[in-house]
Amino acid sequence: MKLKVEQALNLQIDREAYSSHLYLSMAVWAESQGYSGTSKWLYAQALEERNHLVLFIQYVNGRGGKVIIPLINQPPQEWESVQSLFNQVLEHERFITDSINEIVAICSAEKDFTTLNWLQFFVNEQIEEENSVKAIIDNLKLLGNNNMYLFDRDVFAMRTQASVQ
Ligand code: MG
Repeated sequence: MKLKVEQALNLQIDREAYSSHLYLSMAVWAESQGYSGTSKWLYAQALEERNHLVLFIQYVNGRGGKVIIPLINQPPQEWESVQSLFNQVLEHERFITDSINEIVAICSAEKDFTTLNWLQFFVNEQIEEENSVKAIIDNLKLLGNNNMYLFDRDVFAMRTQASVQ
């Protein structure tokens, strides 16, 4: 495996680990505020990011690269509101999309078409992630602050619907 590709994949390993940590912290906050549906969505999201982390680790190791298990930065612990939390989720997913695209660009420049092909799953995954969070933010806007009970009741079902497609 080319060094630049290995370095980019290790950076992604760090970012997937942080993603999982961030959503775990968000899940804990949501749970402590009584938003059990939102919390369930976030715990599931944290597990999904953990799976992404392992997929990247196994790919690098399987191709004979050197995996670096990262030290994970401490995520925020508090959010102003469920709205601001989901805005941060969308912002973070856009950052991850850019990060995946950057690895695609590196693989292309390094002519590593095997890794480029392997990354397609994550390219598609990011479209789904951004769309599912945008749908949640739209739903929050429609319902408004007075309907947080309805939002929290339905948010986990939205995740299940998104992942079935
Ligand atoms: Mg991910």
